[in-house]
Amino acid sequence: MPLSIHQFACLSDNYGFLVRDEASGRTACIDTPDAAAVLRELEGLGWGLDLILNTHWHPDHAGGNAEIKAATGCAIVGPAEVTRIAPLDREVTHGDVVELGETRFEVIDSGGHTLGHIAYFDAVDRIAFVGDTLFALGCGRLFEGTAEQMWDSLQRLAALPDDTTVYCAHEYTASNARFALSVDDSPAVKARADEVFAARARDAWTVPTTIGLEKATNPFLRAPLLAAQVGAAGQPDAAAFGAVRAAKDSFKG
Ligand code: ZN
Ligand code: FE
Repeated sequence: MPLSIHQFACLSDNYGFLVRDEASGRTACIDTPDAAAVLRELEGLGWGLDLILNTHWHPDHAGGNAEIKAATGCAIVGPAEVTRIAPLDREVTHGDVVELGETRFEVIDSGGHTLGHIAYFDAVDRIAFVGDTLFALGCGRLFEGTAEQMWDSLQRLAALPDDTTVYCAHEYTASNARFALSVDDSPAVKARADEVFAARARDAWTVPTTIGLEKATNPFLRAPLLAAQVGAAGQPDAAAFGAVRAAKDSFKG
């Protein structure tokens, strides 16, 4: 049964997502970057709110939890690390399932950006909410985890079906595309970068993306192929990933 998804921009470069299970009318909010924006969007849609699904503890993802719960009476589901900034009604970890009416979200460990980061995957509709783990042409910074942990997380996401629609939490794609072009001269990357720059020039969104498109063009998923470009020739895949991530951290473009 389909899931309706309402995406909106908020804060400086975040996306918020409200989803509705059409069979039951139950609704969820993926992360809470901006409580006022979430409540305004709910009102515009005429939706109540049953659940908040958090991906990680950062304030631009869980900072609106308390205010939105107070306004709607929703329950909050997320990884244990979210309790650093707000209480949870249910803690979830890798392999757990969160039900929203007839929709089932599988919880996938995607630690690395933060240690406890998780993603939510609806296998029937082939939809993934990945927070700050995988971005269009990018990936999250390693604030808490290691390159090995993040590489493993990215591999779990890359193993989802190619036609999975991927909802990332930020519009970072133009900056990611400039970096991708600096380490990868493949025609697919060039073509995608051109599309991204054109989209951003007319203020269009580049999110969502798909797993297939990211596998073909994302320099972090393609890190083993780019190892020589970043001084990691012959190293294990996770080390090549770490070198690409470090190159992006210091990239001025
Ligand atoms: Zn974050
Ligand atoms: Fe974020």
